[in-house]
Amino acid sequence: MSLHIEYRCDKCNFNFLGGHSDLSGSSFRVCHFQSICKGCLTSFSIFSEDLGYLQSDKLCFLLPKPLFVVPRKQNKTEQREWKRRIKRADKAEKEQLRLEWEQLTHNKMIDEVRLGIPIQVTAFNGGIHLELDTIHCPECESVGKIVLGFTPDEVCPKCDQGLMSCSL
Ligand SMILES: [Zn+2]
Ligand SMILES: [Zn+2]
Repeated sequence: MSLHIEYRCDKCNFNFLGGHSDLSGSSFRVCHFQSICKGCLTSFSIFSEDLGYLQSDKLCFLLPKPLFVVPRKQNKTEQREWKRRIKRADKAEKEQLRLEWEQLTHNKMIDEVRLGIPIQVTAFNGGIHLELDTIHCPECESVGKIVLGFTPDEVCPKCDQGLMSCSL
């Protein structure tokens, strides 16, 4: 289940699509949250260490670059070899191989996510809170500027004049 929240400025063209997205394979699910740096207006994805929903007993990671669904580390030869194996297999085996392939991809995505910037997650008022205050922006290096969204009537970080509003 994905939940998007759109934030926009009432004076300029600035907008930010926050919330989280869910991407599912048949054997796994990848959930990521959108964040944005108020300093340089770059947006970043945040993943939990197992690519599932954020929970207070998990670490999460901010990725400077988009996550590759087929990770870079997996070379072309390896990919082709898997495709060939799946093609040749009989029906029952096909499904099994496909699940193995997905699991492998999933594990590589987890490895890639764990190279990101770690963020502490804490329980907060029945929900969760990401400790973003001490995080450096990988793009502009400013500290504590990364947010998951804007409060209603917050001043726009782009034009410094308009007010932010949000809609689901
Ligand atoms: Zn604005
Ligand atoms: Zn920045």
